[in-house]
Amino acid sequence: MKALVFHAIGDIRIEDVPEPVIVDQSDAIVRLTASAICGTDLHFVRGTIGPVEKGQILGHEGIGIVESVGSEVKSIKVGQRVIIPAIVGCGTCQFCQKGLSAQCDKANPMGKHAGSVFFGGPETAGKLKGLQAEKARVPWADTNLVPIPNGIDDDQAILMSDILPTGWFGADLAGIEEGDDVLVFGCGPVGLMAIASAKLMGGRVIAVDRLTDRLGMARAQGAEVINFDEVDVLETVLKLTKGDGARRVIDAVGVDAEHAHAGPEKPGLLNKARELVEQYAIEPAARKFTSHFQAGDNPSQVFDWAVKCVAKAGTIAIIGVYPLTDRVFPIGVAMNKNITLRMGIGNHRRYYDVLLDHVTSGRLDPKKILTQVEPMTGVIEAYKAFDERQPGWIKVELNPTA
Ligand SMILES: [Zn+2]
Ligand SMILES: [Zn+2]
Repeated sequence: MKALVFHAIGDIRIEDVPEPVIVDQSDAIVRLTASAICGTDLHFVRGTIGPVEKGQILGHEGIGIVESVGSEVKSIKVGQRVIIPAIVGCGTCQFCQKGLSAQCDKANPMGKHAGSVFFGGPETAGKLKGLQAEKARVPWADTNLVPIPNGIDDDQAILMSDILPTGWFGADLAGIEEGDDVLVFGCGPVGLMAIASAKLMGGRVIAVDRLTDRLGMARAQGAEVINFDEVDVLETVLKLTKGDGARRVIDAVGVDAEHAHAGPEKPGLLNKARELVEQYAIEPAARKFTSHFQAGDNPSQVFDWAVKCVAKAGTIAIIGVYPLTDRVFPIGVAMNKNITLRMGIGNHRRYYDVLLDHVTSGRLDPKKILTQVEPMTGVIEAYKAFDERQPGWIKVELNPTA
């Protein structure tokens, strides 16, 4: 079968690879009908998060048709249309039982403290092959496959594999109540889904980004917008919130806050990113990432803004991804404002009942942010266009068989 294979930082290729087979009797094999490119995939290709092993198939967002199941699979049937949630759990351990599947004790073969498991990631994320392929093996199929109701089409369903549940998770972590001012940093696909979720939860949303196409989408989702290239973020937030700051803040940016995507207008950052890539190519340890910063460097612009802009006794929820390194956080200011800080990888599985209901009923339509559907043969160009943040490239669906 064809799949997108990682070779090295900046080197991904479409290749013929062996088809997946059932390894454990709780597995299923899914023939993918759609996959998608996520900002997280860009981190692996750029080397800002990793390292990813040579030969890994990329991609953690997918939907498809169940092709075969192991003898222990009970609820999932061959021929069913299914969403493959990006984050994998066993379904039975103490964490999965509480709906905290991102902290599953069993899913990671490297041990229960090794971190969340997802498809198509670095070895530390559980060694599962990715979903930018014609077929994939899904472990614990009864837990990690979600049947798609008839009222939901493929373009909606693919966005429910990761970005909608992650955005919803961010809004849930932030603890939004009716009438809250909610400040969302980052209007990429996950940020846009966090905005839609926060609106549905009754929040008044203010969204921050610098790319006008993304700000336009945020406005279309019902947010007021701040372009941080044009105005001072803190000053504007205070103006919009009667001087109080935002009661709830969601960071949907993560590591991009310090290593912005390459562009002629940010030559310094581009050089830093290049240096980093060179370091990663020879040194697998993420420690290099911290040593890269000198004392006095701003460790994360978004953290800094978030702590300044959050109202006293407010909540900051972090869903943007960061590498596994120690970070400097303005803890003194946060402590003095009685802030609640919540964060993590999405516990996708627990949200499907409510999200399928919202999408079926039309209260949420993730498809609004889908801007491209590309054939697998054009995947390399699609990665490039998405990585360069070309105008209008917000969310890219892939057709694995075209
Ligand atoms: Zn994703
Ligand atoms: Zn588990």
